[in-house]
Amino acid sequence: MAPRVGVLALQGDVREHISALDQAGASAVAVRGVDQLRDIDGLVIPGGESTTMSKLALRDGFMKPLREARAAGMPMYGSCAGMIMLADRIHDGRADQETIGGLDIDVRRNAFGRQVDSFEMDLLIPALGQAPFPGVFIRAPWVEAVAPAVTVLGRIDVGERAGTIVAVEHAGLLATSFHPELTGDTRVHAYFVEMVRNR
Ligand code: GLN
Repeated sequence: MAPRVGVLALQGDVREHISALDQAGASAVAVRGVDQLRDIDGLVIPGGESTTMSKLALRDGFMKPLREARAAGMPMYGSCAGMIMLADRIHDGRADQETIGGLDIDVRRNAFGRQVDSFEMDLLIPALGQAPFPGVFIRAPWVEAVAPAVTVLGRIDVGERAGTIVAVEHAGLLATSFHPELTGDTRVHAYFVEMVRNR
């Protein structure tokens, strides 16, 4: 049976993730109410604006149930703002910005700076196979530090920013600085659906 994967629909590019998840073999659903967390096997936190997402999650009573679901082992995947929402530590966040947390990494918001607000770059992500992955970065965060247990899945490998970590996984949590949901390449979503299946 297709795993049921929710997309947190507080804010952000929900529709694109639902479409990518469906193509990757999941049965995807937009999560608008806390009760829906009971009916899903995994959750995607979309790209968008993490400060707004944090604010809405607190306002709508989502933050605690999300932390509980994560602590109970629900696999979660965050892209861009979603990566920030899963990180234990944020740099250049808002003072009142909270995260779901669980991923033992340091993330810097809007890290690539003004001049390169948005860019595309092929990435080598061995866990997804040999073909380069089209990295779409939009006011993206980067991963500044990871705990030893965290697996680095991908780094920028050319240019000034070579070595920068942009994809990580640890204990059922997956995060990318970039937006695979905007590319038509469903390998990241398929990888996450597999994590949900194998949980
Ligand atoms: N800069 C945004 C933030 O801090 C993330 C941008 C994105 O998700 N495309 O949340």
